[in-house]
Amino acid sequence: MKSNGQKTVYLDNSATTPLSATAKSAVAEAMECFGNPSSLHTMGADAQKLVTLARDRIMSALGVRRGQGTVVFTSCGTEATSLAIFGTAYAKTRREASRILTTDSEHPATLRALEALEKSGFEIVRIPTRGGVLDMNALDGALDKKIFMASFMLVNNETGAMYSVKEAFAKIKRANKEAITHCDAVQGFMRVPFTPSSIGADLVSVSGHKIHAPKGVGALYVSAELIKAKKIVPFLVGGGQESGMRSGTENVIGISAFGAAAADMATRRTEISEKLDVLYSYAAEKLSALGVRINTPQGAHVSHIINVTLPDVKSETMLHYLSADGIYVSSGSACASHSKSPSQSLVAFGLTPYEADCSIRISLSEYNTAEDIDALCESLAAGLERLVRIKKT
Ligand code: PLP
Repeated sequence: MKSNGQKTVYLDNSATTPLSATAKSAVAEAMECFGNPSSLHTMGADAQKLVTLARDRIMSALGVRRGQGTVVFTSCGTEATSLAIFGTAYAKTRREASRILTTDSEHPATLRALEALEKSGFEIVRIPTRGGVLDMNALDGALDKKIFMASFMLVNNETGAMYSVKEAFAKIKRANKEAITHCDAVQGFMRVPFTPSSIGADLVSVSGHKIHAPKGVGALYVSAELIKAKKIVPFLVGGGQESGMRSGTENVIGISAFGAAAADMATRRTEISEKLDVLYSYAAEKLSALGVRINTPQGAHVSHIINVTLPDVKSETMLHYLSADGIYVSSGSACASHSKSPSQSLVAFGLTPYEADCSIRISLSEYNTAEDIDALCESLAAGLERLVRIKKT
């Protein structure tokens, strides 16, 4: 509810999600346990217990069995991805290959990290994802023993397209079994069923605030094999927390809430996904009736992201119009919203820069209802009427 009594309709869940009741109680509980997990006394041990419980919960939500690997807590999904990319690059020996495969529509966390490696001499090959589909022919053309690493996202944060990461990683490992595979699963975690081993990933990035936990916590799954072969080193060094993989006193409150939120969603996975499927279909039908074009592909896609192109109205103008009605959506990714250039993901998808500039992302969570979609469509219809008319006069 806004301060003027207007109901708020939050449809920007890919940017961040509201805290779940379970996460809130975990925060409250952890706030009472302020010891440093590294301290040897009982208060330290109590804090350490919370971190261990959260690690077990994230591993279980990821479907990771003991011995298969571990989870390293970080400050966000971006840091998890940086640890994956820079941590493996720093561990690389001179003799190893230096080609890195990725897609042309990754989140800036991956894009920028790989640009930095490109400047230092790595060869980066970006596989097209036109129409939300990973181009397997282009991938086949880039396969050889020179591949050092591959970093592919599971779900695109702007279009909702699901990439065939499993098939791609299998091809890459066949070409070079030493190649390291990283998956940015920030938008896929707890939304689509996968485990690191089911998709063939050595490294998987996830983030707390996308699954109803607080901001300021993320995690990187690291396979036991990678640790054993010393193919990853920390890039944040210091006191040796997180088994030496990420120094810095742990964010016990955030970590604890992340574990609790994941455990809670894991027990209701089917129920949540069925609810989102129904809501997605309802929204897609109502939005199409308004004459907006749905970009989210018909094929493999998630049910919590709908990207649409508006007929001749800039997304930013519409975003402000909707916001005045208490309806919150996004114009592309929140992390890239300060950028003046059109969304790289949408252009890679096949939209013209103008179309990308006229596209909004509606992203759902289990807390949304059909009434929220009705409110969005009502305001959107009025906005289109008014804004297109203003443009024409
Ligand atoms: N990767 C994807 C696909 C995302 O959607 C995001 C956030 O929007 C990130 C990485 C970065 O996560 P964080 O905001 O936790 O740094």
